[in-house]
Amino acid sequence: MGCSGAYSGAALGSLMMIKAGDVLSWIKGLQAVFAENRQYLTELDAAIGDADHGTNMDRGFTQVVRALENNPSEDIGAILKTAAMVLIKTVGGAAGPLYGTFFLRAGAACGGKEEMDSADIVAMLEAGLEGVVQRGKAGLNDKTMVDALTAGLNRMKHLMTEGVGIKEMLKQGAAAAHQGMKDTIPMLAKKGRASYLGERSIGHQDPGATSSYLLMETMAEYFGSD
Ligand code: ADP
Ligand code: MG
Repeated sequence: MGCSGAYSGAALGSLMMIKAGDVLSWIKGLQAVFAENRQYLTELDAAIGDADHGTNMDRGFTQVVRALENNPSEDIGAILKTAAMVLIKTVGGAAGPLYGTFFLRAGAACGGKEEMDSADIVAMLEAGLEGVVQRGKAGLNDKTMVDALTAGLNRMKHLMTEGVGIKEMLKQGAAAAHQGMKDTIPMLAKKGRASYLGERSIGHQDPGATSSYLLMETMAEYFGSD
């Protein structure tokens, strides 16, 4: 084959970094994904909640994209912080403050950074998840977004130690988050509105775990290259 070894190393190195523009693309992508899945998320929430999760996420991310268009930045931390403030302000209920906290802590973890490698991405997601847990006090298997986020993050952490590239790490992380989402079906809800249903929450997929899976799946789509 070719003899471009000296160059391919450098090219690969630059592919391993995520830039502020990728973060903006991811968030725009999320807006489209939540708009597409608005009804699906709302139906899931209708079964064990109050049928607003799809509208909440769609409304929130529409406003986030608008705010970022008016206030663009090269600082990834600043971008995530803007997203957080808008989510906290415009999305009510449980998910607004929880996703708001997720983005706020994620942003704090990469404040001042204009690019991220896989370790930065993992640290960012881990800080976000820690914020959700501190704020919402949900443990594993309480049938919440924490289940999907934890499953995804744990897989990513494992892959990072093996030196897998960003794209592959995020793809496999999203697959694990998908499993974490599916695993909420047989669970009894212990937090949020679904917990009011007790045993009747069993047999339904958690809406927040579903939006968290979509968040990771969309990240895998926009971050890194194959
Ligand atoms: P609300 O329940 O206020 O109507 P949403 O419908 O937008 O808010 O979001 C519901 C989702 O929020 C649930 O499916 C669950 O994943 C998540 N959730 C609720 N309470 C908690 C909590 N204490 N910790 C983590 N996630 C939670
Ligand atoms: Mg709801």
